Amino acid sequence: MADITALTLLQIRDAIGQRSLSSVEVTTAFLDRIERLNPRLNALHEIYRDRALQRAGQVDAGQITGPLAGVPVVIKDNMCTAYGHTTCSSKMLENFAAPYTATAVARLEAAGAIVLGKSVMDEFAMGSSTEHSAHGVVKNPWALDYVPGGSSGGSAAAVAAELCPAALGSDTGGSIRQPAALTGTVGLKPTYGRVSRWGLVAFASSLDQIGTFTHDVEDAALLLGVIAGHDPLDSTSAPAPVDDYLAALSMTSPTPAKLRIGLPREYLSDANHPAVTAMMDQAIASFRSAGAEIVDVALPHTQYGIPTYYIVCTAEASSNLARYDGVRYGHRSAQAEELLDVYSLSRAEGFGAEVKRRIMLGTYVLSSGYYDAYYLRALKARRLIKGDFDAAFERCDVILCPTTTGPAFKLGAKTEDPLTMYLNDVYTVNCNLAGLPGVSLPGGLAKVEDVSLPIGLQLMGPAFAEGKLLQVAKLYQTLTDHHRQRPKAI
Ligand code: GLN
Repeated sequence: MADITALTLLQIRDAIGQRSLSSVEVTTAFLDRIERLNPRLNALHEIYRDRALQRAGQVDAGQITGPLAGVPVVIKDNMCTAYGHTTCSSKMLENFAAPYTATAVARLEAAGAIVLGKSVMDEFAMGSSTEHSAHGVVKNPWALDYVPGGSSGGSAAAVAAELCPAALGSDTGGSIRQPAALTGTVGLKPTYGRVSRWGLVAFASSLDQIGTFTHDVEDAALLLGVIAGHDPLDSTSAPAPVDDYLAALSMTSPTPAKLRIGLPREYLSDANHPAVTAMMDQAIASFRSAGAEIVDVALPHTQYGIPTYYIVCTAEASSNLARYDGVRYGHRSAQAEELLDVYSLSRAEGFGAEVKRRIMLGTYVLSSGYYDAYYLRALKARRLIKGDFDAAFERCDVILCPTTTGPAFKLGAKTEDPLTMYLNDVYTVNCNLAGLPGVSLPGGLAKVEDVSLPIGLQLMGPAFAEGKLLQVAKLYQTLTDHHRQRPKAI
């Protein structure tokens, strides 16, 4: 058998189920690898060694059972856990111990999964490189002087570096798909409302969605089936029934009947890296040869995606982050002498520069006199963007495009220039604005200077069509095999 840490979630689950591996053996292998490599990568902030090993022992003793019995996972640090800390990689929540566990995490644990630790992220999930973090930057396992993407960069790097077979992340404008693309992992953002947001620290509530990082599509399907579903604690979680996504994958042989793949020309820009263009050409040819029909679709309002997203998300963030006032929880300034100081000094000391920028932008676009000019217009543009997708899905089953315009960039290359940083999300934000499911798949490697770095292929589907989306994703995986490439740098 291959090294334990190179195995997929499904392989680990089956090996534990057949007792060819024990859960303690598996958990120890990952914990040891974390101990060895995490100091170099900084993917994880907090590691629950004792708790993980104790739960692994209970799995081996038959006291914990379920579809994920004994498999280790990592959780992005914006999901509450009733143990350890939930910091959002912010000084504001440095010592915050949540009194409850997020539904998505609780569902994983109820299915028998073992949480190894919490991953480093951009502060409050605002960023595209995991450099805006109070806990230091995360390195890309493919080349340590490159970013892993963000904001779920720690979760992405942890899976890519085999510190865990799977991780949860959150995606508000691309924070699962973009880091997945930049680390050569599979990143799935489900439909808005498919997974409960209860216990996910809010950034932009109309966009936030929890999803997964894995090595392959089967593992994504397995995890989604566990975390998805209605939750009475989140009124935006959908009552739609949860399919057996994994079983649906084995039913396709090999191309779903009459598969129509939509190609939006707006995503085939000259700005794309040549390797991204080649990846798209190859994907189109492979899908065609597998019997799929490629249809041109138009998403004409794509160009408004970035401004619309950065108005909506900052507006919602400015409102959501008002709760960090230094009173009930979070950082409280030691310098404050009166109430107003408690608010302003605590916030000035607790938040990092990017979070402050977003709060100011969001407060501005919501302020009287500017509300109509910015926020209301953004909501209208959002409706048009959604309308584009509705029209496109009349003509195709899924949409095919790149996840990003190119591979990872060097650490520090964009931190001084927020606008260039925001443009990273040009191919991911529209999916969130429309509330649709999207997945990024390993799309091969691009040569940059003296290193080879991953790029990602994105598929987007109609709302709640995760089953179909994953079937097409699996087909691409079968046709290309890019997902088997793993980083050698570490
Ligand atoms: N990079 C985007 C941003 O900075 C998306 C973040 C996210 O999806 N959480 O807002």
